Amino acid sequence: MSIISFSHVSKKYTGDVTALSEISLDINEGELVFLTGPSGAGKSTLLKLIAGMEKPSGGMLQVSGQDMRKLNRTTLPFLRRKLGLIMQQQRLLNDRNVLANVMLPLIISGATTLEAKERAMVALERVGMLGKAQALPRTLSGGEQQRVSIARAVVHKPRIILADEPTATLDRENGRMVLDMIEAFNRAGVTCVISTHDERLLQDADRIVQLTQGKLIGIRSSDSEVGA
Ligand code: ADP
Repeated sequence: MSIISFSHVSKKYTGDVTALSEISLDINEGELVFLTGPSGAGKSTLLKLIAGMEKPSGGMLQVSGQDMRKLNRTTLPFLRRKLGLIMQQQRLLNDRNVLANVMLPLIISGATTLEAKERAMVALERVGMLGKAQALPRTLSGGEQQRVSIARAVVHKPRIILADEPTATLDRENGRMVLDMIEAFNRAGVTCVISTHDERLLQDADRIVQLTQGKLIGIRSSDSEVGA
C-alpha cells in the first residue's frame, strides 16, 4: 500500500523557478527509497513537499492519507508526528545539550519532561550516543552530530523518515555508519526516503529515483530498471 503518492506534482518557486515538474511516484509502506540527481535537480524540494514544508503548485500529493493541498495549521502537527525529519536546515540547537535537543520534539508535542527524557535516552542509546547526552552539540564530531539528529528525528517513533543528504558532510566511514542507522529503522518497518548524490550508498536501496532538472528520469528497483 502506498504511504506517499505523487500524481503529476509540480513545484514552482517565486521567480518562476520550476523545481519539480509532473512528478508521479508511489512509495510503499516500509520501502527504502533513494533520490539521486545532481545539485539543483529538485531532491530537497521533493522531500520538503512530503514534509509539508512547501506546498505543491500543481498535481496531487498524499502523505499517510493526508491531501497535502489541504494541509493547514490543524492538520500539519498530526502529519508531522508521523514524520522524522533529518533535513539540512534543522540544525541542532547549540545552547542546549544533546539530551535536551532530542527531548525537544516531544516537549513541543505535549509530553511530560520525565516521559520525554526517558524516550530521548532510548533514542540516544539506539544511535550509540547516550554517553554524550550531557555534551553540547558543537563539541561533537560531524558524524556524532548527525547521529544525534537521527535520534531527534526518531524519538517520537515516526512511520516515515525523510533524510536530505544525511551523509554529505561526512567521511566514508561515518557516512556508512549514519546510513546503517537509518536502514536499521527501515528494517523495523519505517518507510525511508533519502536523498544523496553519493553512488556508493545506493546498493541497499529498494528503489532509486533519479531526478534531473526537476524531472523524474528513471526509477531503478532492486530487480528491474524502468525509464520514466
Ligand atoms: P537539490 O536538492 O536536488 O539540489 P533543490 O530542490 O534544492 O535541488 O532545488 C531545485 C531548484 O529549485 C533549484 O533550481 C533551486 O535553485 C530552486 N530552489 C530551491 N529552493 C528554492 C527557493 N526557496 N526559492 C527559489 N528557488 C528555489
